[in-house]
Amino acid sequence: MESLKLESSKLKSIAILGSTGSIGTQALDVIRANKDAFAVEVLTGNGNADLLIKQAIEFNPNTVVIADESKYQYVKDALHKYDIKVFSSNKAIAEVVQMESIDMVLTAIVGYAGLESTISAIKAGKQIALANKETLVVAGDLVTTVAKEKGVNIYPVDSEHSAIFQCLAGEFQNPIEKIYLTASGGPFRGKKKDFLATVKKEQALKHPNWEMGAKITIDSASLMNKGLEVIEAKWLFGLKPEQIDVIVHPQSIIHSIVQFTDGSMKAQMGLPDMKLPIQYAMAYPQRIKSDFPRFNFLNYPELTFEQADTKTFRNLALAFEAMNKGGNAPCVLNAANEIAVQAFLKDKIGFLEMSDLIEKCLQQVAFISKPSYADYVETDKETRRIALLEIL
Ligand code: NDP
Ligand code: MG
Repeated sequence: MESLKLESSKLKSIAILGSTGSIGTQALDVIRANKDAFAVEVLTGNGNADLLIKQAIEFNPNTVVIADESKYQYVKDALHKYDIKVFSSNKAIAEVVQMESIDMVLTAIVGYAGLESTISAIKAGKQIALANKETLVVAGDLVTTVAKEKGVNIYPVDSEHSAIFQCLAGEFQNPIEKIYLTASGGPFRGKKKDFLATVKKEQALKHPNWEMGAKITIDSASLMNKGLEVIEAKWLFGLKPEQIDVIVHPQSIIHSIVQFTDGSMKAQMGLPDMKLPIQYAMAYPQRIKSDFPRFNFLNYPELTFEQADTKTFRNLALAFEAMNKGGNAPCVLNAANEIAVQAFLKDKIGFLEMSDLIEKCLQQVAFISKPSYADYVETDKETRRIALLEIL
């Protein structure tokens, strides 16, 4: 049925969770440029009601959901003239993703808040374009198990994982020896602890190569983003921890590398522009012609590589530790990091204290080796409680 409908309409109908964010707005740019390929079925936002309303009027989705319930009436009133359903709350997001008319759900909510709706969409058999990496960090075993049961493919949006996925096209039967996730190193590459102890959010929010939401920008500065991506890669590609390595590549041109068992390596490269991996995930297996700026070799006479400094940027080491430990440890890591980033953004803790807080939570929260969904929910809650007490 699904494929018949697609064939006749030729439009893939997409639900964009987090449409008001950095990934969400870029996904809408891709759709705006490809109206013959995609239709918008659902849009969701949280605090930015005005942008959500503007997007709804432009893209005319079936449904919009504003997660922040205090903004429901405002959005409802603004859209009363239009044939668009309006709901509110995260529960509502988890419900609307199951709508029959949706082909693909782009998960671009930031953080743990995206977990419930992602699982709900997978349970309903929707294809997933996954930007919300925290979902796989928190509950990668559960998410990938349900996806397998339901025959759902998870297409990576994260540029490194998209790169790996693109390198694997035509190679799915060939075992991977190792993958190398590239990292820009962020704005503080090469800096040492005495410098980092004094940095302020304004400095951390200036990423050299990517324009992103605030949380992932801080994660990039602290290398936690790469740590989360290591765990994300483990689940997406079914890898053992020792098969995943990180290499710092400041120009962000090579987006990641796969090494096969014959020693051959494949890399995917291009200018850093999230629209490319977003479009690839939404259009897979097709490549849609685009007018994104093209790479010019002469502008990049040197592509360089260096080891990540995990002694200074401890978050990356902590993420490897949590991955190796398994169970609910990555869930603790993620929740502690979300609280740490929020506290840093509010000037409540320093840059290096983010790692201290995460380490304390990893030590204090009870370990569960085979967590259920309820265990993840409880672990997230308990970690936030402990982390907030530490900050006070
Ligand atoms: P943004 O902060 O720019 O956007 C987040 C989106 O989620 C917004 O639409 C926001 O709504 C919504 N949102 C925030 N909190 C909640 C909540 N509690 N409930 C429901 N919705 C909520 O983030 P990004 O777009 O940068 O990142 C989104 C995800 O994609 C993250 O997981 C990130 O790691 C990942 N990613 C991002 C990349 C990038 O280049 N930006 C690259 C690779 C991965 P509102 O704005 O209306 O408040
Ligand atoms: Mg990335």
